[in-house]
Amino acid sequence: MPDAAITRQVAQRLRELYEHHRTLDPREVASFYEPGRGTYPPELAGAEADRFGIALATVDDGALHTVGDDTTPFALQSISKVFAYALAVEDHGEDEVMRHVGVEPSGDAFNSIVFDERRNRPYNPMVNAGAIVTSSLVRGRDGAEKLDRILDAVRRYAGNPSLRVDEETFAGEMQIADRNRAIAYLMRSQGMLEGDVEETLELYLRQCSITVTCRDLAVAGATLANGGVNPVTGERVLGRARVRGVLSVMYTCGMYDFAGEWAFEVGVPAKSGVSGGILAAVPGKMGIAVLSPGLDEYGNSVRGTRVCREMSVRLGLHTFAAESEDEILRASAS
Ligand code: GLN
Repeated sequence: MPDAAITRQVAQRLRELYEHHRTLDPREVASFYEPGRGTYPPELAGAEADRFGIALATVDDGALHTVGDDTTPFALQSISKVFAYALAVEDHGEDEVMRHVGVEPSGDAFNSIVFDERRNRPYNPMVNAGAIVTSSLVRGRDGAEKLDRILDAVRRYAGNPSLRVDEETFAGEMQIADRNRAIAYLMRSQGMLEGDVEETLELYLRQCSITVTCRDLAVAGATLANGGVNPVTGERVLGRARVRGVLSVMYTCGMYDFAGEWAFEVGVPAKSGVSGGILAAVPGKMGIAVLSPGLDEYGNSVRGTRVCREMSVRLGLHTFAAESEDEILRASAS
């Protein structure tokens, strides 16, 4: 099916998808997350339980389709790991970054205190340990300059120069940073991380506190899906040769210990964050962003996962699926 036809269908489908997944039984949600508070049970959730938005940006013309809440800013959290990793790779090359952080799915939770002992490095840049290392690798005189470069990159991926770090979110993150702090000190003690741990921790948590809307995130996804060129601004944000590695690591590690099932069922490179955001990039086609703060036991958005799964099946987005559900149905009817 030509891409233009897919794009037209998507606009109608978004509304259907939204309606389909609008009701969510709280019993299907494992937790919510808030900086300064950490994870908390669904019984204690307020308005965040209903927050739900989907946005999609196409690669061919950067057209944006949205439904639901597409304007409330939320923290990137772990989604920021993608942009910091891409920048570290731009700065040093894949081989050098690979010396410090692997590309192996860990099979463990995002905040696990596990490392690739054989190679003396964190498993991959999408779990906290690996992300702390990649942030430290970003070039810059100090944490502030590194952060400026990460923020500038995220702005260019999203085509939105007004994106910023939410200092309140950051302050909340710092209050509950003991586990990340422990991971960082442990890594330094084993020679996996260099430099000032507190400065790196602040850098990492500030990058997690960059706020975006679904619209911003969908365009950022479309930039990755478009070989590194923002389809709205026309700016090249990431070298073409680097995109392959970034999408590969999202594909195999982006959804934490759910990554295998995600690859199996949804089949597109994606990254989630504890704020309930999911960023997906469908190479050559589109960027997708979903926001819904209710999380499953892996820390991935419940609605976000469902929406992406259904979108993938209906539109034939899976990397290894040749046809959409509609085409299969049409073919079997004729
Ligand atoms: N700031 C969070 C942390 O480092 C981000 C984790 C996430 O989004 N999974 O714990």
